[in-house]
Amino acid sequence: MSSKKQSKNANRKHHGKAPHGYGGIRPAKGLGQNFLIDEGVIEEIAEGSGAAEDALVIEIGPGAGALTIPLAERSGYLAAIEIDENLIEPLRVKTFGMDNVEIIHADILAVNLDELIESRLSEYGLKNVRVVGNLPYYITTPIIMKLLETAHGIDSITVMMQKEVGDRIAAEPGTRAAGAITYPVYYHASVRKIADVPRECFYPAPKVDSVVLRLDIREKPAAETKNTDLMFKCVKAGFSQRRKTLLNSLSAMEGMDKETINSALERAGIDQSRRAETLTLTEFAKIADILQEA
Ligand code: SAM
Repeated sequence: MSSKKQSKNANRKHHGKAPHGYGGIRPAKGLGQNFLIDEGVIEEIAEGSGAAEDALVIEIGPGAGALTIPLAERSGYLAAIEIDENLIEPLRVKTFGMDNVEIIHADILAVNLDELIESRLSEYGLKNVRVVGNLPYYITTPIIMKLLETAHGIDSITVMMQKEVGDRIAAEPGTRAAGAITYPVYYHASVRKIADVPRECFYPAPKVDSVVLRLDIREKPAAETKNTDLMFKCVKAGFSQRRKTLLNSLSAMEGMDKETINSALERAGIDQSRRAETLTLTEFAKIADILQEA
């Protein structure tokens, strides 16, 4: 897709005022409120999210509702969770008359998602669960991890994030683009890019460009291990000192020493001078399984 198409509204000058349709809403900076104003991007996200008549869609941070209406038009039922009390009434007004929309005033990190998902699926006879969010950048990672690690029944997560974070998340494990976040995401989901979103597509424009990724939850995790926590501890230790050799970075883990790591790497057939970013998820799983027995 050309960036011309993406940002067909992007060159408008707003002179600090909210664009038409925002009903005088003043974006709250502290809540990461950068509202989408590019119709092309809004359509791409709604279309790419998997929202459909047999789906329960959970929208995180609906803001002024840019995505809420196009998502609701496609979905069986839409639950939109917004933390900012000032936006609840405008959202209810905007979605008035749409009987498949529920606006929930809550912090997504405090919501019992399992309960929400179970009750709405059975009440409305829906089959799929699609999560969609244009999140504040500072909580992107904790929210994605909460969704991946604790929620059940989610089929896909379509999420806007800062481009640099997106590049890490979408990277293949074992490549230079990989980071610590790459591995847990890859373990749970396959990742693809839905859209590149230049900063001008928002009001107000943030300082960085964004990307929208779709994470499709795997039926089975991408690697087998006896100890998932230990595997991700190894990933974290490896990447917290990514320029160091595995022998040095993994020895810094609590309760570990060079001798234990040296022999574990030897048993796993992994050269101790390699760096974390060269390891596949399966190799981290192998190390964790050997350390678990040690
Ligand atoms: N989805 C809208 C759009 O695309 O124009 C708004 C996006 S804005 C980047 C992020 C939204 O998330 C804001 O409306 C903000 O108030 C809301 N938000 C921030 N933290 C939240 C949280 N912990 N739980 C739910 N919503 C949150």
